Amino acid sequence: MSRSATATIHLDALRANLARVRMLAEGAKVMAVVKADAYGHGLERCARALAGADAFGVASIADGLRLRAAGHRQRIVVLSGPDAASDLAEMRRLQLEAVVHHESQLAMLEAEQGGDPLKVWLNLDTGMHRLGFPPGRAHAMRARLAALPAVDKAIVLMTHFASSDEFDNDFTARQTECFRNATQDIPGERALSNSAGLLGWPQARENWVRIGGLLYGLSVATGKTGADFGFAPAMTLTTRLVAVNHIARGERVGYGATWECPEDMRIGVAAIGYGDGYPRSAPSGTPVRVGDAPVAVIGRVSMDLLTLDLRQAPNARVGDEVVLWGPQLPVEVIAQHANTISYELTCGVTRRVLFAEDGG
Ligand SMILES: *Cc1c(COP(=O)(O)O)cnc(C)c1O
Repeated sequence: MSRSATATIHLDALRANLARVRMLAEGAKVMAVVKADAYGHGLERCARALAGADAFGVASIADGLRLRAAGHRQRIVVLSGPDAASDLAEMRRLQLEAVVHHESQLAMLEAEQGGDPLKVWLNLDTGMHRLGFPPGRAHAMRARLAALPAVDKAIVLMTHFASSDEFDNDFTARQTECFRNATQDIPGERALSNSAGLLGWPQARENWVRIGGLLYGLSVATGKTGADFGFAPAMTLTTRLVAVNHIARGERVGYGATWECPEDMRIGVAAIGYGDGYPRSAPSGTPVRVGDAPVAVIGRVSMDLLTLDLRQAPNARVGDEVVLWGPQLPVEVIAQHANTISYELTCGVTRRVLFAEDGG
């Protein structure tokens, strides 16, 4: 039997989410971040649905190539820029834009003999301490870039927030302030906010917002779902029941025998597991739906299969649809049970899962 695990991608949700981002961004340009195969939803199909964005953000030149091959003519920004001098020629060939965050990249650009002007986004580290130049060097770095004939003069200034999902943590306001002070008399567009920045920090909107999660209907704010902010989940993960068994009180279920039946009961076996990207860390009690009935994971998630407590689903039968997450069961809730974030779960859906689309 072929496997039934299916991720259905709701193209209407992607389009509606982009429209909502535009509304909240109040005129700022929107970079649709489609890295990691569009957070696991599929790069090409999501880019098609999000083609109205002003730019795409990717993590690799390879993803930029895929977007160009699919016919997209928008601006495409490689969020960590070139890793090697040879990347620069490839970026020019594909007309990709480069985030420049490190002296090594600046040195590569300065060593060039010329070429078509490359569009550059200058990344300043205002406190996350991952990528970016110290803000105090903003003027100097920009001047070096602007002096290069093979760099486009319209350099965008950017920074990235570390804690923008914590709406009561003023670290984002401090990062914004630090950015403003460092860039005061530097000309050019600015790009500060990610998804949580857009929701919680209106003062950081500026010329561009760089949005990933919200376009897929995902939230990383603790205890909140994308739907709580008016966004629609773009993925439903489903499978089928492949067995329904009567198991006696006191018997144990699954690897490690971690769950014991408190009574004689029906147990469902669903054709999905960590080999499909359902998290092994999801403990007994993690919610699942069989048809319209809310049920729960029991025992350990295995590679191909998941066991379910069917006491709340007396009509469940072999072949019934099982929903792991989707509009009726927020992936943020599953992530909370599994001690992770929604982004990791959608990114983690594996290649053996069948992808389907709805909403044309
Ligand atoms: C991933 C990423 C984003 C998007 O973040 P979301 O929380 O998904 O909106 C924005 N900017 C940069 C630099 C990123 O790497």
